[in-house]
Amino acid sequence: MYNAEGKFVLRRAVLNITYRCNLRCKLCVTGGPRYKVAPHYSFNYLAETMHRFFKIVDYVEWYELSGGEPFIHPDLAELIDCAMSFKKQFDKLLIITNGSLLPHSAVISAMQRHAADIMVFISDYGELSSNVKELTELLLSLNIDCKIKSYHGDNQYFGGWVDYGSWERRNDSPTDLAAKFKRCGASKMQGIFTTHAGTMHWCVRSAKGLVVDKLIPEEASDYIDLFDDALSVEQQRSKIVSLFNKPYISVCNYCDGDGDNAQRRYPAAEQLS
Ligand code: SF4
Repeated sequence: MYNAEGKFVLRRAVLNITYRCNLRCKLCVTGGPRYKVAPHYSFNYLAETMHRFFKIVDYVEWYELSGGEPFIHPDLAELIDCAMSFKKQFDKLLIITNGSLLPHSAVISAMQRHAADIMVFISDYGELSSNVKELTELLLSLNIDCKIKSYHGDNQYFGGWVDYGSWERRNDSPTDLAAKFKRCGASKMQGIFTTHAGTMHWCVRSAKGLVVDKLIPEEASDYIDLFDDALSVEQQRSKIVSLFNKPYISVCNYCDGDGDNAQRRYPAAEQLS
């Protein structure tokens, strides 16, 4: 958090720009395919969200635009330009795509403008990711770094996807909750702060449970409301520091976690019928 120069620093932060996606993955962590109308955020709202985030966080190594499928957002080009206006406050802008779509011309131009500062992660779901080759060639021609994560066949990235389970309360003991939280990938990566609907969370499960779908009882200490003007920057930073010091978050009691057990991994991107 505070580095030697007194700057407030995070390792990685994600901005969810839309839950819309062209795929219908059964275990999608946002649950996008299950909405009648998937949450989707306008350019103005996301630009204000970025502005508020970078008022609190002086520097983040990776700043990520995620979905849903980011290439679906009609204002992605403007969002890339907007993120780049904060370039001094991050190292790389990361975009994660499912490899099934090609960016439209305005997005290609925006990526070209900022090529040295962008990296694209392509999740390769085999036949579903029908544009991996073309997208990779396009990115290479633009001198944009890209990384393909293989999520098909027998040797899937990280062993495949996780099923976090239902939204029933588990009634785990505090000791078990702390162990679950500690084992979880989100915690091992020191919290990838993920922003959904103007609020920053430890994990996507927290964003969905507490804010986006309101599936569990409110616990305001588990997230940072970037639009809460009653709190100063220092108070928002204190909330982030407190979150890092929690033994677990309330939503862990409504989650199976991911843990280390390979048996709990499932083939990625299995489609709903
Ligand atoms: S809610 Fe689930 S995914 Fe989030 S930290 Fe707790 S165990 Fe991990």
